[in-house]
Parts: sequence; C-alpha cells; structure tokens
Amino acid sequence: MPDEAPDVIVVGAGTIGLACAFRLARAGQRVLLLDREQPGLGASFGKPGHIATEQIFPLASPEVVRGALRYLLDGESPLRIRPTYLFSFLPWLLRFVWASRQSAFDRGVTALSALQKTARADMASLLSAAEASHLMHMNGHLVLIENPVSTPAARKEIARLGAFGVDAVWLSPAQVREIAPDITAHIEGALKFTGTGHVDDPHAVSKALHDAYLAAGGRFLQSEVTWIDSLADKFTAHASNGARHSARHLVLSCGAWSKTLAAQLGYAVPLDTERGYHITLPGVFPRFSIPVASYERKVIMTPMSAGLRMTGTVEFGGLHLAPDPKRFLLLTRHMNALAANIPTGNMTTWMGFRPSLPDHLPVLGRAPDGRNLFFAFGHQHLGLTLAGVTARIIALQVMGREPEIKMAPFAPDRF
Ligand SMILES: Cc1cc2nc3c(=O)[nH]c(=O)nc-3n(C[C@H](O)[C@H](O)[C@H](O)COP(=O)(O)OP(=O)(O)OC[C@H]3O[C@@H](n4cnc5c(N)ncnc54)[C@H](O)[C@@H]3O)c2cc1C
Repeated sequence: MPDEAPDVIVVGAGTIGLACAFRLARAGQRVLLLDREQPGLGASFGKPGHIATEQIFPLASPEVVRGALRYLLDGESPLRIRPTYLFSFLPWLLRFVWASRQSAFDRGVTALSALQKTARADMASLLSAAEASHLMHMNGHLVLIENPVSTPAARKEIARLGAFGVDAVWLSPAQVREIAPDITAHIEGALKFTGTGHVDDPHAVSKALHDAYLAAGGRFLQSEVTWIDSLADKFTAHASNGARHSARHLVLSCGAWSKTLAAQLGYAVPLDTERGYHITLPGVFPRFSIPVASYERKVIMTPMSAGLRMTGTVEFGGLHLAPDPKRFLLLTRHMNALAANIPTGNMTTWMGFRPSLPDHLPVLGRAPDGRNLFFAFGHQHLGLTLAGVTARIIALQVMGREPEIKMAPFAPDRF
C-alpha cells in the first residue's frame, strides 16, 4: 500500500493496536498504523505474559473495596496511591467504588466472561496467523497459598470459578514441589489452573504481530498523533511533525494515553492508569515451567525465554511521576521469600502503565454515534489475554458485521 490512502488508521501500536491492525490487514483492508514509538514499547513491553483466561471477576468488586483500606495502610501492600496524585485520582476512585456494587459487579462478570469465553481460542488463532504459535504455552499456572487463614477462601474459589467454566484444582505442598522445586516458601497448598498459559517473551509477540502485519501489506509510521478530527465521515490524524493522515475508519488503541484523543472525538472516558512494576533476572531459569503467582502477595513469576520475571503492584500515580524504587525492592523481597535459592543479584527493572477504567472493563467497539470510529483501549490487567478477541471484534465491526457478544457494557459513554 505504499502511498495509497488507507481504509483504516490505527493509532497506537501496543499489543492491542498491533493485533487489530494485523487482523484488518489480513482481511484485505489498507491499514496505516501510527505510534509515537516503535511498536510494543508501552505497557505491552514488560508484562509477565500470563494468558489469564481465569480472570472473569472484574477488580471492581465488593471484596476489593472491603480489603482496600487494609491494603492502603500497609507499606508492603500490592496497592498504593502516590500521595501527590490522590486529589487527581479521587473521581476515578469514587467511580470504582460505585462500579463495585454487587449489581454492577455481577453485570461486569457477565461482560468479562463473554470476552474471556473465546479469548484463548482467539489468541491462539491470532498467533497462528502470525506464525508465532511457538511463543504461547497453554500449560496452566499455579497460585500459592502461604497463610492458613487464606486457605478456605482460596479453596472456595475452585467452586466459584467452576460455575463459570474455569477449571482449577487444589494441590498439596508436596505436589507443588514436584512441579516447582524452586519454591522454598512455606505453603499450605496451591490452586493449579489448567486452561491458562503464558507467552515466554511478550515483546517477541509484538514483533511477530508487527512483522506479520507488514507482510500482510500494512504500513507503519512512527508518528505522534496530537489531534484527531472527524469531518464528513473522514478522520484526520494530525501528527506532531505536521503530517496529516486521513481515512474513513479510525481505531483508537493508545492504551493508557487514549483519554485525550477520545475526548477530541467526543467521548469523555474516565481512563486512568494502574502502574505496575517488574524485575527480570536475565539468564535465570527456575525449576518451574509455568507461571507461579502468590495469592497473598499479588505477584506473579513467569519463566521467560530470557530469564525469570516477577511483576506486581498496582500503583495509582498517573502518567508522569517517576517510578518508586521501593516497589522494585518490594518485588525483590517477594522473590527472595518465595524462592530463596534464586539469585537476584543481577536484575533489570521496568514500570508500565495499565490502562484502566473504574469498572475494569475495556472501552471496545464502534462509537455509539454510528461513525466509523472504533475504540480498543482500557484492557487493564488483561491486554495480552484479550488481544485476540479484541482484534476479532474490531475487524468484524470495521467490516460492517456484528460480533456474537453484547457490546453495550464496553461502550465509551457507559459512565
Ligand atoms: C506490570 C504489568 C503486568 C501485566 N501483566 C499482564 C499479564 O500477565 N497478562 C495480560 O493479559 N496483561 C497484562 N498486563 C496488561 C497489559 O500489559 C496491558 O493491558 C496491555 O499491554 C495494553 O496494551 P495496549 O496496546 O492497549 O497499550 P500499550 O501497550 O501501552 O500501547 C499503547 C501505545 O500507544 C502509543 N501512543 C500513546 N499515545 C500516542 C499518541 N498520541 N500517538 C501515537 N501513539 C501513541 C504508545 O506509544 C504505545 O505504544 C500487565 C501490565 C503491567 C503494567
């Protein structure tokens, strides 16, 4: 498509934008993908790669609200609000509490389950089309339980999730050690999920999607979009270097940075970011081959092709504050406590911006005003997991077809 006008402009080339652009290019659309950086360097870069198809309960829940105060008062907590951000964050927090009412939570479960129902198959199909199936391993994951007080609730999860078709079994400490001899912490047992998985290099997934997109005839430009206007059913993206790009369809997939551009297009969405941290131990290959999470610590360790990665922490601090070094130390302490023999001397660190709406559902699908405007952002903790289903839905809708699921819960004007 060298200089031909595109049919579709996709703004933002994280996992979500790449997956949408690739699906559209494969379907024969002329696609122009824009990102201010090279593809895959936003939130998509440093995640632990967990294909978390078991997560059908939105974080906006009565249970999380009940536990939040305890978390916020605990210095080692997985959940923090940076004090200087508290005032800006209050409106989001109030909406989160409102979205956590039992009735709203129940609707959220239905909506998220509908996406999760095909997430695994859609991801497998996406990676297969990109000739990248080798990056995905669907062998499940473990959730360790260290505190006997947590055991009854953790065991109850098996039945609660089972009602939604999510399979998990209880493993004894001895069974866990067989699968993961490097876990040295005292544990009461673990949940073993069987329908989940991981990718062993999230950035390789982005690169594979980008290569496949280019091979399918798509075009990429490194370009920061500062303004989008929509006139006479044509969208024009204005870039910071003065360039303009126009097309009849536009997909907005700028992750945590989507709010300003969505507002320019007429939709005020209460998007904020849950900042997350990782430490990666290059060249460290633990004796477990599936992700290992902790029920109480809210961290996850994933064996990656380049070494072991641990991620965790939800920190509310907006898009501009520097990372808090104490969060990296906290992750290191968790690593040492869970797997004392794993050397943590040599590590790389990273912080990324999960794009999160207060109800923990993405903004997804065609704009309610009927324009050829499509949203694909706000995938919070599940951007990798939901990339395949998101891309399938967006490609269907751009081509004038409707997906099998109800889209109203994901509308940008639902708040
Ligand atoms: C610590 C951590 C752990 C996580 N773990 C998992 C996990 O295990 N499993 C899972 O499924 N998900 C996980 N996630 C969530 C997942 O990473 C995100 O939901 C997902 O990466 C979001 O993808 P995205 O494409 O929407 O956003 P991003 O990857 O952030 O991409 C947005 C892109 O938009 C571009 N952009 C922004 N503004 C502009 C502009 N004005 N003009 C042009 N380009 C622009 C950015 O440069 C960026 O490339 C985790 C996230 C974090 C931070």
